Amino acid sequence: MRKKIVAANWKMNMLQAEAAEFVKDLLLEIGDMSAVEVVIVPPFTAIAKVVESLDKAQNIKVGAQNMHWEHSGAFTGEISAALLRDLFVRYVVLGHSERRQMFHETDEIVNRKVRAALEATLRPIVCVGETLEQRERGSVEKILSLQLHGSLAGLSGKDLHETVIAYEPVWAIGTGRNATPEQAQEAHAFIRETLTELSDATTADRVRIQYGGSVKVENARALMSQPDIDGALVGGASLDPRSFAQIVQAAANDEVVE
Ligand code: PEP
Repeated sequence: MRKKIVAANWKMNMLQAEAAEFVKDLLLEIGDMSAVEVVIVPPFTAIAKVVESLDKAQNIKVGAQNMHWEHSGAFTGEISAALLRDLFVRYVVLGHSERRQMFHETDEIVNRKVRAALEATLRPIVCVGETLEQRERGSVEKILSLQLHGSLAGLSGKDLHETVIAYEPVWAIGTGRNATPEQAQEAHAFIRETLTELSDATTADRVRIQYGGSVKVENARALMSQPDIDGALVGGASLDPRSFAQIVQAAANDEVVE
């Protein structure tokens, strides 16, 4: 059975003091919960503070929002997998639609980063998802297939097992307009089918696929109770520790019900 994974993508928010306060409040709400894998993804500047504030809470992991594919060298302003591992980072979000749209990241670039992350034993959270225009044109499956084949090219079954996929329809990110549980389930089932093409059914069945796009307390349970939705990547609602804790609890309750 796939353990649910709920991640907080703070984007370009949270000063160090706010991050420490968030972790303190989150721990009061959920403790060192083991039923669900919780990942906090701060801006680079707050990573060390989050790691320090988590102290002995071993089940809550820390992620980064991006990285460069090279190990080290003359890449001013960039961060490598090795530098992130040095900070005890375990996950890295790659190919987020904001990076694809604003920083022109292609599937080929995402693929280089995914392979570099895995080589450094960082677990990638690879984001895929269609724009509204692509959905309206009926191209959801084509886009997802292209993004998955491109971003995950050359990965072994073991690599795929270490990887998390986040289905994030671009039209649902930060808009307050989430995919319905049925729309999301349909896309997730297609993603799992594509993972079968890329490896085999056993591997595809083990890969966790998160949904992201305006997840909040009110819709978390319905989304995460779908058979192929294995957690959530949460942006806006993850900035408030109580909201985020309730989303984590929705994932945990779902584990108990199954
Ligand atoms: C995200 O940035 O990954 C995201 C899903 O944002 P939001 O929850 O705010 O839509």
